[in-house]
Amino acid sequence: MSDFKNIGSCLCGEVNYEVSGKIAGFYLCHCQYCQKDTGSEHAANIFLSDGDLKWLKGEGNIKCFTLPRTRHTKSFCSQCGSALPYADHIDDALVVPAGSLDKKINTKPNAHLFISSKATWSEALENIKKFDRLPI
Ligand SMILES: [Zn+2]
Ligand SMILES: [Zn+2]
Repeated sequence: MSDFKNIGSCLCGEVNYEVSGKIAGFYLCHCQYCQKDTGSEHAANIFLSDGDLKWLKGEGNIKCFTLPRTRHTKSFCSQCGSALPYADHIDDALVVPAGSLDKKINTKPNAHLFISSKATWSEALENIKKFDRLPI
């Protein structure tokens, strides 16, 4: 486990946070809930143990949704919908969406989770065309 410290924010900039802790895992979750709540092929969350989460700005804009009868939770900005960190009390971990971080990280994901649920189009994505910008 390595020491981790970073800052993050939502897309509209109303919410800013600072987070620190030890990286217990960095997972790409392909479950159906994560596909719905990200609108994409997987969520990308860093799990921190001994974590500390400090809201620097906009704490009043945060909403947290837990899908009934599941452990699936999403914390988000109520103005722009961006994913934000939350404390998972069952695992005693801070769950930090990697895309919400503002400083580059060196850590690479440890694993894909729920690969049996992955989207049908989530295959060999390294092989498709790549553009630096919108291809117009
Ligand atoms: Zn926002
Ligand atoms: Zn998931």
